[in-house]
Amino acid sequence: VKECIHQIKQVLPPKSWSEDPDIIAPYLQEWRGRWQGQTPFLLLPGTTSETADMVKICAAHKTPLTTQGGNTGLVGGQIPQGEVLLSTLRMNKVSTPNLDDMSLVCGAGATLQAVQEAASKAKVLFPLSLASQGSCTIGGNLATNAGGVHVLKYGTAGELVLGLEAVLADGSIFHGLNTLRKDNTGYDLSRLLVGAEGTLGIITAATLKLSPKPQTIVRALVALESPTKALQLLGMARGGGHLSMFELMARIGLDYVTRYIPGQTNPFAKPAPYYVLIEWEFEQSALKNWCENILAAALEAGVITDAVIAKNGAEADKLLSLRENISAAQKPIGATIKHDISVPITRVPDFIRRADLAVLKHVPGCRPLSFGHFGDGNIHYNIGQPENMSGEKFMALEPQINDIVYDIVDALAGSISAEHGIGILKTAQLQKRADPTKLRTMRQIKKALDPDNIMNPRVLEV
Ligand SMILES: Cc1cc2nc3c(=O)[nH]c(=O)nc-3n(C[C@H](O)[C@H](O)[C@H](O)COP(=O)(O)OP(=O)(O)OC[C@H]3O[C@@H](n4cnc5c(N)ncnc54)[C@H](O)[C@@H]3O)c2cc1C
Repeated sequence: VKECIHQIKQVLPPKSWSEDPDIIAPYLQEWRGRWQGQTPFLLLPGTTSETADMVKICAAHKTPLTTQGGNTGLVGGQIPQGEVLLSTLRMNKVSTPNLDDMSLVCGAGATLQAVQEAASKAKVLFPLSLASQGSCTIGGNLATNAGGVHVLKYGTAGELVLGLEAVLADGSIFHGLNTLRKDNTGYDLSRLLVGAEGTLGIITAATLKLSPKPQTIVRALVALESPTKALQLLGMARGGGHLSMFELMARIGLDYVTRYIPGQTNPFAKPAPYYVLIEWEFEQSALKNWCENILAAALEAGVITDAVIAKNGAEADKLLSLRENISAAQKPIGATIKHDISVPITRVPDFIRRADLAVLKHVPGCRPLSFGHFGDGNIHYNIGQPENMSGEKFMALEPQINDIVYDIVDALAGSISAEHGIGILKTAQLQKRADPTKLRTMRQIKKALDPDNIMNPRVLEV
């Protein structure tokens, strides 16, 4: 490693690397404090060719690298444990959108928010939307195939990319930055890098797909009795293809937000067991009545018990912030064991019922909280420690609780990681539960593209 670092320092300019512990420190801290990293050396490439030069030197010395974008990942993959750390943050250029191709090119280190703003300035939309958008990067979004609240209508990050540029493990550059909507010329390397969590190469730039900006957005919060009612409402709300968000929140989640996050209020006078945040988007302007009629029909049919529709942008933002603050609002309640699962949409009520029963039986007094992307069959299933148990004692039960939750997921033909990836957190569960042919093929792909295992070597661990 020493020789590798020495050579990089000779070849690359000083602004493209650092050994200063004060500069390196923030890159080693995971935002929830779950992992503390360590690295001998930070690489800060400003361009793709600098990235390639760095990787070539690392490859020659078989020196492992961890790639980091915005450091908002939730499964620990971006935090080095002794590897050289490469941050993409300097590669953050965002081009002016090409409105004929409806595309935009950006560096991997551009934040999602910078890309959204560039699109909005040109009166078009880049629809990926996550609560971490001010910090997370496009490279990270693609490496994790991020989801967020608009997957229902626009798809995951991987469905919003036309092509990628990347540096592979031998330092060669893959030039896949095209704007083609159709390209059937063999294996799709851009797609292969999507969701690979940095294990097959470093994404350095991307061509992203833009969409027309909706003219009217209608956002509403509804109260309902159960996830089964939420499923019925989803069926009613989908008609016309305008539905762009359908987010479930168990009451306990909204209670945490209103209790612990300043300025947040529950708009309903009477609490309900569940809430759903709904959004519809229209190309035309005057379809608000259409939404009101759906909600009136749902109320009449007993599917929902109450509803508020945002009257303006500020009210719409307030409703969304209730949902977006749920993660932050769980910090004060102590230790939580988190899951990010998906099941077929119709099985979501079944999953929540079975998981709540099972975890409460195993740890009486624990506080299960279901929230998230109901419309995609993706639930963030977080279990808070019982008030009368220490955080340490509760976290010691994590392996058992994970098995309880994931056994239900498997029984319902679901996935143990819908959005956040495997990282270093779920490698053992992946080995245990993935289809053996899939695992074997993943291993072969990794071996072919990164024979010395230098790219994010601890991630996925296939
Ligand atoms: C408050 C909050 C809300 C969130 N909400 C969502 C959500 O709704 N949906 C969702 O999917 N995720 C969500 N996340 C998780 C996280 O924001 C996403 O996984 C995001 O895509 C990570 O981007 P990043 O730039 O921060 O990547 P990092 O955290 O830096 O890295 C994540 C992984 O990608 C790899 N990586 C990063 N950049 C590159 C690159 N250029 N080339 C190759 N590999 C790379 C890293 O090595 C690591 O394995 C949330 C996180 C927070 C903190």
